[in-house]
Amino acid sequence: MGQIIDGKLQAKKYREKIASFVKERINNGLQIPCIVSIMVGNDGGSMYYLENQKRLCDKLGVKFQSIILNENSAESDIISLIIKLNEDKNVNGIMLQLPLPRHINEKNVTSIISESKDIDSLTYENTGKFYRGEKAFVPCTPRSIIELIKSTGIDIAGKNAIVIGRSNIVGKPVSQLLLNENATVTICHSKTKNLKEICSKADILVSAVGNPGFITGEYIKEGAVVIDVGTTVVDGKLKGDICFDEALNKSAFITPVPGGVGAMTTTMLILNVCEALW
Ligand code: NAP
Repeated sequence: MGQIIDGKLQAKKYREKIASFVKERINNGLQIPCIVSIMVGNDGGSMYYLENQKRLCDKLGVKFQSIILNENSAESDIISLIIKLNEDKNVNGIMLQLPLPRHINEKNVTSIISESKDIDSLTYENTGKFYRGEKAFVPCTPRSIIELIKSTGIDIAGKNAIVIGRSNIVGKPVSQLLLNENATVTICHSKTKNLKEICSKADILVSAVGNPGFITGEYIKEGAVVIDVGTTVVDGKLKGDICFDEALNKSAFITPVPGGVGAMTTTMLILNVCEALW
């Protein structure tokens, strides 16, 4: 029977670190980290994430401002706002909630964010540096995944790591992070043949598909570390990609949904803005 990796518990450790960092800066009369989060329109998921960011920033003493723009805002207005925030010395991190309304070109807008304030790693500069192994902001979800794997105490080096999913926000960056840790990485996707066979050889299995219950016990190697990134709402409940009970029996460590990866991401975002100052 595997052990459950508690995302909330891991997040708490980082939150304590952030809170004491902020306290120290206040005591030394230094600038308190400040995040500005921009949302365009009224996407429900983005609003939930925005409220979550505000709640956690308030709790940790980090300054937070949300700017909610009308769904019909012009691209030029969003760009002007980002330029203003780039120049504002009191702002350390700019978070642009995605998705944007259809009439806005995401690339045009995200590319304006100053590299030094791009805490969610949306710009070409940060992404390029990240994949070249240079110092850069690491996107929050992949970072959460790596921290959760490390929290098990296993040595990632030399492990056979299988990532299912190749999106720019999860699959590709987490594969790169695993490679940085010297795992042997295989990236699978919708055209992969023999997925079950490949997964059943994984020492570390990361599933980022978005198909609830897609990964059954047969996909899991005995003693594997299993990370479920998938989050799909089914009958009002959040479901992961992995059949939890089946995988729990075979794995050494497994993340639940909810309470696993998702419980870490906002904390990692705030950690990113603090690290830029320490
Ligand atoms: P995405 O862009 O839709 O990517 C899904 C990936 O799954 C694609 O690469 C796709 O392959 C692959 N895939 C689909 N069907 C497959 C199959 N039958 N076999 C193998 N691979 C298959 O999604 P995403 O943005 O990466 O997100 C993935 C999941 O993670 C979603 O449930 C999302 O809600 C969740 N998520 C959670 C967090 C969190 O904090 N917990 C953060 C971000 C995302 P192709 O490339 O070939 O289409």
